[in-house]
Amino acid sequence: MENGRIIKVAGPLIVAEGMSGADMYDVVHVGHNKLIGEIIEMRDGNASIQVYEETAGIGPGEEVVSTGEPLSVELGPGIIGQIYDGIQRPLEELVERYGANITRGVYVPSLDREKKWTFIPSVEVGASVIGGDIIGTVQETSVVLHKIMVPNGMSGTVAEIRGGDFTITETVCVLHTLQGKKELSLMQKWPVRVQRPYQNKLAPNEPMITGQRTIDTFFPIAKGGTAAVPGPFGSGKTIVQHQLAKWSDVDIVIYVGCGERGNEMTDVLREFPELKDPRTGESLMQRTVLIANTSDMPVAAREASVYTGITIAEYFRDMGYAVALIADSTSRWAEALREMSGRLEEMPGEEGYPAYLTSRLAQFYERAGRVTCCGTEGRYGELSAIGAVSPPGGDISEPVSQATLRIVKVFWGLDASLAYARHFPAINWLNSYSLYEDRLGQWYTDNLGPEFQQQRGEAMVLLQQENELNEIVRLVGIDALSPKDRLTMEVARILREDFLQQNAFTESDSYTSLGKQKGLLGLILHYHHIALKAIENGADMEALFSISARERIGRAKSVPEDEYETVYAAIREEMENEIEEILAAVSTGGDWA
Ligand code: ADP
Repeated sequence: MENGRIIKVAGPLIVAEGMSGADMYDVVHVGHNKLIGEIIEMRDGNASIQVYEETAGIGPGEEVVSTGEPLSVELGPGIIGQIYDGIQRPLEELVERYGANITRGVYVPSLDREKKWTFIPSVEVGASVIGGDIIGTVQETSVVLHKIMVPNGMSGTVAEIRGGDFTITETVCVLHTLQGKKELSLMQKWPVRVQRPYQNKLAPNEPMITGQRTIDTFFPIAKGGTAAVPGPFGSGKTIVQHQLAKWSDVDIVIYVGCGERGNEMTDVLREFPELKDPRTGESLMQRTVLIANTSDMPVAAREASVYTGITIAEYFRDMGYAVALIADSTSRWAEALREMSGRLEEMPGEEGYPAYLTSRLAQFYERAGRVTCCGTEGRYGELSAIGAVSPPGGDISEPVSQATLRIVKVFWGLDASLAYARHFPAINWLNSYSLYEDRLGQWYTDNLGPEFQQQRGEAMVLLQQENELNEIVRLVGIDALSPKDRLTMEVARILREDFLQQNAFTESDSYTSLGKQKGLLGLILHYHHIALKAIENGADMEALFSISARERIGRAKSVPEDEYETVYAAIREEMENEIEEILAAVSTGGDWA
């Protein structure tokens, strides 16, 4: 094929002529520096190319060469624990080889070519296999067993299979296929814009437990589900995302830092390796892949990072794992789409975003789900996708938030006023929702007992009633409320302060098991029940509000996991005794009357 020539440079967009031999979405090398780009539009042999590296200094006349391949990722052992840029270049390697100011156009393989991995075969010669079948395993990190799969679309009979130590490019298996002999290594490649296949999509039926009380109890996300966290600057999006990455009960976490401020990504890079996975006691990086695209990288790379992330996530899903992909923030990606669309002079849609914004976002979230993986085994895998959205000024009527909300099933709406009042996580319980609630109901009932569903409903009603009562209080003052309503206000306050508020930075509060969540909720509701009964029997409201067990509820969330059952039982008893005493005083009073 003949090479093309640059005829126009517009920031991250380059137009080259003489490209008729290339295809849409081919990766190309641009100019003397061989910058990496991707063709995003073809018109009469002219290719519009988004370039993933800084284009300063590149000019018309320079050469453009197509690689003839779409943008792909390398999948195989060595991926876990890595920190990649948007086009899967390992950042540490880049810095090591080229220094902090990464030279442009450099090529570093995504996966280590020299490292040897111990491969343990699980098939024998003569076995017939199809795409997705597992031919053996590599213990990649102490917690991740990397399953080596027959590449999608391939099938045949095993002619040779070798166990032992191999690099990712050495042959471990030879297949007889209809197209002749095929050699398999530990690594395979996949084009990022193409969804990896699966057999069936199934309805999610299990929650992804996050240890965050507001989320797990009130607005749960399913394993294989989709969620969005919109919120204005400073409302705690990043902390919510970090909490999910740290605590979610999934096997693999892919964290895409997409064009956020550089220092937030540094936080992740510094913090994650030191954090311990509560389930395994190992470093979190042993199950995490980070894709870091800071805002000083060219906008086009943001799009690549999102696709790179979800493709890696699908690959681990295909092994039968539960994977969580966390993208912070999809607004930055949408902005990149807008910029490229503008430079392509496309007809703009709402607020200048391209008309295909919604379909792009939908294609991304559609790659989440609970599936039957490819292969004869029929194993299940789950990929959950959680995207932060950062609407300017926090106004979610803007196009990116609206498009996202039409697609995802869970909405954790962060609220500036809650963040201002230091109510964290600032998830607004009045407008957030989870469309998985019904579907997961059975799981909660099976695992936490039938009363849990009822308790969470009861708590939500109290919180909603508080909101209505607040209106009345604003108009006529709190003294106008009946004792029963005063109690509702009081219990709602306890729910907000002692249940919904959760400090990400305190060890004892950062993660709450489901059992403890239920225990704590039960404790607060029990107070409501017995105090209500006492009020009906004429007990003094102020006395009920100031019992000392009430204060102990306030500290109950910090009780360690292995003590909460005993402590909560003790608080319950103390509460009952104190309220009984208050009631006894009433009846004595009654005798005198
Ligand atoms: P955003 O990403 O939306 O701009 P951040 O996630 O950086 O906001 O949060 C801003 C600040 O809010 C944090 O630095 C922290 O002080 C506080 N914060 C957010 N969530 C929590 C939480 N769960 N616990 C304690 N503090 C929090």
